[in-house]
Amino acid sequence: MKFEIFTILPEIFSPYLSASILDKAAKKGLVEFNLHNIRDYTNDSHHTTDDTPYGGGGGMVMKPEPIFDAVESVTGTPPQCPVLLMTPQGKVFDQELAHTLAEEPQVAIICGRYEGYDERIREHLVTHEVSIGDFVLTGGELPALLVMDAITRLLPGVLGDPTGAIDDSHSSGLLEYPHYTRPVEYRGWRVPDVLLSGDHQKIEDWRSMQAIERTNKKRPDMILKFNPEELSKKPRAFLIDLLKKSPNKS
Ligand code: SAM
Repeated sequence: MKFEIFTILPEIFSPYLSASILDKAAKKGLVEFNLHNIRDYTNDSHHTTDDTPYGGGGGMVMKPEPIFDAVESVTGTPPQCPVLLMTPQGKVFDQELAHTLAEEPQVAIICGRYEGYDERIREHLVTHEVSIGDFVLTGGELPALLVMDAITRLLPGVLGDPTGAIDDSHSSGLLEYPHYTRPVEYRGWRVPDVLLSGDHQKIEDWRSMQAIERTNKKRPDMILKFNPEELSKKPRAFLIDLLKKSPNKS
C-alpha cells in the first residue's frame, strides 16, 4: 500500500515514520510513505502556498493551484485513489474507515496549515474529509500520522501476531477485554483465576463477557449498536440479560 502525503512540512514525519512498527513495515515492502512537499509544485520564486482570504478576515488560506498540481501529478487527473483532506470539519476517523482504507492500494492525504484551504480543493479534489476529533490543531501532519498508523497496522504481515488486531477495541464492535501478565499476584492484586485455569472455552467466554461489561459501562452507545448474534451462547445470554437490566436500554 502506498500513502502519498502532501504537506509543506515533510520534516515532521521522519521521526515517527522511522521508528517502530511503521518503519519495519516499510522496510519489509508492505507499505510506502511517500512525502510530497507542496512547495515543490509552486511556480513563483518564493514557493508561495498560501494567500490572504477574499472578503477579508484574519489568517492565510492554502492556495488551490499547488495542491491540485501536487495531488494530480502523483495520483492522476482525476485522482485514481481516495484523497483525504485532514480537517476538523470532517467525519471523525474511526476503525471502520481504517479497515475500508486498508483495502486500497494507494491513499493520498492532504495536510493543511494556516486558517484552512481554498474551498475548491474541498469541492473538486477531495473524496473524504477526515477529522481526528472535535478540537483544532495547528496542522494536518499529526492527524495524517495518526490515520496512517491506524491503517498500516491492519495491513497483512505488519503485526507480529496476525490475530492481534481482531479483538482490538472497535474492531469487533466492543471494547477489548482486560489483559494480565506475570506476576500472578502484585501488591495483593491477583490475576483472575479463570485465566490460569487452562480451560480455553471458559477463558474465551470470560473475555467476551468482560468486553461486554466494560463496553456497556464505558461506551453505552456502542453496546446498543452491537449485534448479540455475533457472540457464542453464554456471552450472548449474558449480553441479553445485561441489556434487560441496563438503564442504557433504548
Ligand atoms: N480554520 C479551520 C477550521 O475551523 O476548520 C482550522 C484550521 S487548523 C488551524 C489548520 C489545519 O490543521 C487544518 O487545515 C487541518 O489540516 C489541520 N487540523 C486541525 N485540527 C484538525 C482535526 N481535528 N482533524 C484533522 N485535521 C485537523
